[in-house]
Amino acid sequence: MAIYSKVLLGEEEKVLVYITDSKSAVKKASEIHETNPVASAAIGRLLTGTKMMSLVQKEDSSRISVSINGDGDIGKLIAFCDHLGTLKVKLDNPNPELIINEKGKLDVGHAVGKNGYVSVTKDSDNIKPYTGQTKLISGEIAEDLTYYYADSEQTGAAFSLGVFINKEAEVEYAGGMMIHILPDCPDKDIDKIEKAMQNAKAFTEYLKEYDDLESIIKAIFKDINYKIIDSGEYEYNCDCSRWRAKLAYDSIPKEERDTIIKEDGNLTVHCDYCKSDYVFNR
Ligand SMILES: [Zn+2]
Repeated sequence: MAIYSKVLLGEEEKVLVYITDSKSAVKKASEIHETNPVASAAIGRLLTGTKMMSLVQKEDSSRISVSINGDGDIGKLIAFCDHLGTLKVKLDNPNPELIINEKGKLDVGHAVGKNGYVSVTKDSDNIKPYTGQTKLISGEIAEDLTYYYADSEQTGAAFSLGVFINKEAEVEYAGGMMIHILPDCPDKDIDKIEKAMQNAKAFTEYLKEYDDLESIIKAIFKDINYKIIDSGEYEYNCDCSRWRAKLAYDSIPKEERDTIIKEDGNLTVHCDYCKSDYVFNR
């Protein structure tokens, strides 16, 4: 299972950190979508970021959808998470051009593209859907989500996201961190956190080195006080069902359905998030 923790940092506990090891969910996403390494890294970063963004939402019925639509050849990426345990992602092209950048890393920014938009839609049973949109900064996803928060949300957030793909093209490590500086945070705590972040290694380096999230917190934030206030597990999990597929089926005009069934013998409703097929023959 993928795991997360919610942590308060600093002497006055005015810095909130969400940290996660998302390997299990990202690996499952890459297997479902049969992504090449750069696409696995892209959907893994987006899935990890979206999960942490969902943890900020307070209501039990909260839902969040994050889409990244750049001009790279991966096309559009959409991730969705809710408090009922759904976590899913889809993408246009699972085999974008695979380029290694000058740092020797998979060039996610090239695959996603640097021109385009991040859109975030949030809602719940009690809150009408709200969509915020900002421009892409680099297509590397962590920077784009950080910029989204700076531009669209009242509290800023900084993201660190990492996916490491091994030589067998499998997801070996995946995870990340989201940091919120809360209002009234003392300057000395902000300074300490910023310094720790500047000195931090790539997130996957910590996942390689440590088996648990608390050790990673200690390694990154060293002498800064911390308190774990919540922890949990999650998994890649699609919420499609035959009942939902039937709604999609019913939305097709009857005449059109009848023609397809007559010609093909049946009508299939396909789920782009988990690749399930729901077959209707009348
Ligand atoms: Zn599905």
